[in-house]
Amino acid sequence: MALQQITDRVHVETQHLGSNNGIVDGGHGELLLVDAPHRPTDAQRWATTVAGFGTPRFLVNTDHHPDHTIGNRWLPGTVVSHELTRSRLVDDAPTREYLRDLFAVIDPAAVPLVDDYEVRLADVTFSDRLELFVGDVHATLHHTPGHTINTVMVQLADDGVLFTGDNVCNLGLPAFLDASVDRFFAAIDAAEALEFEHLVPGHGEPGGRELLARYRDWGREVVGRVADARDRGLTRDECAAQIRFEDLIHAGIGETPGYPDALIEYFQQRSIEQIFDDVEREPSLRDR
Ligand SMILES: [Zn+2]
Repeated sequence: MALQQITDRVHVETQHLGSNNGIVDGGHGELLLVDAPHRPTDAQRWATTVAGFGTPRFLVNTDHHPDHTIGNRWLPGTVVSHELTRSRLVDDAPTREYLRDLFAVIDPAAVPLVDDYEVRLADVTFSDRLELFVGDVHATLHHTPGHTINTVMVQLADDGVLFTGDNVCNLGLPAFLDASVDRFFAAIDAAEALEFEHLVPGHGEPGGRELLARYRDWGREVVGRVADARDRGLTRDECAAQIRFEDLIHAGIGETPGYPDALIEYFQQRSIEQIFDDVEREPSLRDR
């Protein structure tokens, strides 16, 4: 546990394996939660931590990935997400086999919970933008396709805080499985256009607006490496076999072990293939 207070009303836990988990304290005992823990045992503990602050009115999922949504099951509050986050969780819910194999590595005590695990879907969805009022807090949810086509960012204008979801991370780059190079940069531009002082990334330490430029540079670097390799005549398969970027998002955190090596390797290969395909289709993306 390493709960950080970002502003008077905003607290963020950065030491769960998986997404950063936010508590926005609206006063009057009312809370807004941003993203759910990945590990069930973290989610159960998180529910206790959260109860110490008040009662969650809403739990926002910034995307549909397991590291942002699995913990929904153990948290109270009305779940809110983009409409595609909900439909993608319906169409593509993690299978019990997948969860069993994953938990065996990242959360062995949770393996018995898989048998009656059900995805807890959003109760409320939106398409473009949604305003939430929780106690004295006003949150604006912006649909900003980037890391996924359904990623939402949560802006607390009065508090100067922006939760970017995985559109911005501060632990290296996330997987590009659901991203495109073009959307990756467009989402950073979208964050840049919003007013805020404190940035809470999907993963890694919170910071300020400087995180945007740094994240853009990381993206440019890996896209440039793929484009250079392609220019030198490497095939898509050769690029996917040879080019790697640092993945700290799925690596262990504290005492918690990270993802299985085979899964991390799969994310890397698929990410490089996605970048290769995008650069092949649109060579100018390397100068984005
Ligand atoms: Zn994530």
